[in-house]
Amino acid sequence: MSLGWKLFISYVIVVIVGAAVLVVSTASLGPVTFSQHLQSMSAMMGSSMMMDPSTQLQADLDANFRQALNETLLFAALAATVAAGIVSVYISRRIVKPIQETVRASERIADGHYQERLTVYSADELGELTQSFNRMAAALAEIETMRQQLIADISHELKTPLAGIQAYMEGLQDGVMQPGPETYQQVQMEAARLQRLVRDLQELSRAESEQFVLNPTTSDASDLIRAAANWLRPQFQDGDIELHINLPVRPIIVLADPDRIRQVLLNLLGNALQYTPSGGKVTVTLQQKDRQALFSVQDPGIGLADEDLKRIFQRFYRVDKSRARASGGSGIGLTISQAIIRAHNGSLWAESDGPGQGSTFFFSLPIAT
Ligand code: ADP
Repeated sequence: MSLGWKLFISYVIVVIVGAAVLVVSTASLGPVTFSQHLQSMSAMMGSSMMMDPSTQLQADLDANFRQALNETLLFAALAATVAAGIVSVYISRRIVKPIQETVRASERIADGHYQERLTVYSADELGELTQSFNRMAAALAEIETMRQQLIADISHELKTPLAGIQAYMEGLQDGVMQPGPETYQQVQMEAARLQRLVRDLQELSRAESEQFVLNPTTSDASDLIRAAANWLRPQFQDGDIELHINLPVRPIIVLADPDRIRQVLLNLLGNALQYTPSGGKVTVTLQQKDRQALFSVQDPGIGLADEDLKRIFQRFYRVDKSRARASGGSGIGLTISQAIIRAHNGSLWAESDGPGQGSTFFFSLPIAT
């Protein structure tokens, strides 16, 4: 049985019960109170004016009153039931309509029509249900857009190195290119790019999954910076870029997964190295801000425009696509880093005074208690 029918029947039952109680109580109490009133009237007016209650007239009056009362009650009960029926059809329809619309809209969403939205008719619980349904539909639409975008991005990223490999192989087959170390190295570089992309994608899906496992230990945040800096120092020297480390005197202890934090620091330092011209200086700083350890990597490199400051954390986003791709960047590093820092209950963000003005990447981690 549909909800509309259930509501309709329940309204009618309520009215029938109410009408039945009214009829029974009026039918039983009405005649008694009527004869009581009659008696007191005859007592007041005297026996000459009114007859004795036991007389025939008294009995007739009583009987007629009962009959008139019963007929009226029967009619009133019928009228009440019919009126209740009409009103309950209207009310049930009003209540059921948004629910039926929600059911229809959820079926359309299940069929892939993510733009489906409902009209909010009221500010009550049904209105709240409709609003949360619309919010859910908007979130699903966003996820769907991101999914489509992700597929498009991945296909695009795979296409470039694959096209390169194919071109080299065709050139070799046609004799346009000569087999030799240089050609082999080019093919190998494209294959390495593909491998890096697949590895980054795996890493990203792990970092963004609910089951992202961290192995936190209490460590001195300065040690994490030293380890990452030592790892990249030869590359800084090769690029003639100074790597300056600015650490506090007192240790700042964080509860963090050292491998993951090192991964984040390597990403930030690697980017700073890549976007800083030779002769420049990159500074890594650690300081305590309230109950947070605040890490920063500052470079005097190409800088970032305002609109890029947030977007660089989106997957595959690169400000200068050709330059980043030439260096092997897939635009996923910062997305992974942000997922790692968020999993540690910290945050990662970038600041820059604009293109050409250098940039600073910050991330915070809660201090171990
Ligand atoms: P990629 O592998 O391309 O470096 P990231 O996610 O690490 O991927 O960085 C995304 C983009 O952010 C880069 O392509 C670059 O455009 C920009 N970016 C990152 N770090 C810096 C920096 N220190 N200075 C200027 N731009 C940066």
